[in-house]
Amino acid sequence: MVAETRGGHSPIPFIQHPLIATPAPHMNLDTSHTFAQTQDREDPLASFRNGFHIPQFKGGDCIYLCGNSLGLQPKSVVTAIENELDTWKSMGVEGHFKGSFPWFHYHKFLKPTLVELTGALDQTEVTPMGSLSANLHFMLATFYQPDQHRYKIIVEAGAFPSDLYALETQCLFHGYDPNTAIIEVSPKPGAHILETTDIVNCIEKHADQLAMVLFSGVQYYSGQRFEIGPITEAGHQAGAMVGWDLAHAIGNVPLSLHQDEVDFAVWCSYKYLNSGPGGTAGIFVHQKHGGNTKLKRLGGWWGHHEQERFHMKKGFKPITGADGWQLSNANVLSMAAQKASLEIFKQANIDRIRKKSLLLTGYLETLLMKLSSESGVFEIITPENPEQRGAQLSLLFHQQGREVFQGLKEQGVIVDWREPGSIRVAPAPLYNTFEDVFQFCEILKRLIE
Ligand SMILES: *Cc1c(COP(=O)(O)O)cnc(C)c1O
Repeated sequence: MVAETRGGHSPIPFIQHPLIATPAPHMNLDTSHTFAQTQDREDPLASFRNGFHIPQFKGGDCIYLCGNSLGLQPKSVVTAIENELDTWKSMGVEGHFKGSFPWFHYHKFLKPTLVELTGALDQTEVTPMGSLSANLHFMLATFYQPDQHRYKIIVEAGAFPSDLYALETQCLFHGYDPNTAIIEVSPKPGAHILETTDIVNCIEKHADQLAMVLFSGVQYYSGQRFEIGPITEAGHQAGAMVGWDLAHAIGNVPLSLHQDEVDFAVWCSYKYLNSGPGGTAGIFVHQKHGGNTKLKRLGGWWGHHEQERFHMKKGFKPITGADGWQLSNANVLSMAAQKASLEIFKQANIDRIRKKSLLLTGYLETLLMKLSSESGVFEIITPENPEQRGAQLSLLFHQQGREVFQGLKEQGVIVDWREPGSIRVAPAPLYNTFEDVFQFCEILKRLIE
């Protein structure tokens, strides 16, 4: 797809109340500065920006469009962490069972909002723990049980390197050659979008030998959002387990993991979830597996029956549900940050966040399309159908991408660069404004000229 063909359909007339209109593909919004100002004035989520620290540039707010990489710090984080520091200071070890949020149960305080964000059935299906890459290994230890008949794993081509390393080393761990066991599905030649039918066809082709399908909810490089329901169903029909990496999906797009019958999912919390660098990650395990305490797993004492955890006896008895995959004494200071951040998601509500996101990214797309067709120096490789993406648009530069990226930085715009040649731009609806998007495009335009 070349940039010029995007939005080539007749423009959608100016939408009076876009937040209640269903956005159609090929959004073609008013590109004026007035439009941005009006949208900001009428934005029902506008007040949430004030709940975040915005990095500064030359005495003012920078234009931060990098929440897909590291979400900004909620102002409420400091109080939440200080609260636990105080408990530690004043009670020491007693803090595990005393204080306003006893550490022994701390992960449970995060669960209600994680249930909403993931579309879990209830709190037993989710648990905050560890880190994404480690959690992926723990999930694979349970759900990837290859044998000589079924050992293949299907993953999107160009998946995040950490996920690929996890898959490669899991194959080797089980005695299989990653070169034959891992099947990477690519878009059709010349295309950037991986169609669901391409994925389903690949699953059907390898059905007899397929053990696992692992996909990203939203692809980190292209920004494409994959169809969790249909892909999971195709995987199951082939007799495989299906897991999802939601690093770029959680807090970005609504999810319905329980209903979609997803076997397991993993995520990190420092991208759209704004929980701080290296923040406690999380897992989803579907109820149909969570109740099966016989499943093979790599265990630790935090996954052992709560009432007996401190009995210090041998004989691992996993808790039912996702909690049974926990291993270690949880990182309370990090979870405190996440607790504060999730409070914001609870207030804002993921459906409202998504509504604003569709419009905000649609506005960014409209401005970029104009710039792209006028200049020809970059194209947008993220799908143009808003249903097939989250907040992020990826701009593939045909020339001078690095220089443009550098120039943006020098003018107080924070986006990121991903090899081999793309700038990822992600307006986060909780703190980004239409003004941010407008100003970003103005700066980009001047740089390109
Ligand atoms: C960000 C990201 C990771 C990072 O993994 P960590 O274990 O948190 O370092 C892994 N996979 C994907 C798809 C990501 O986007």
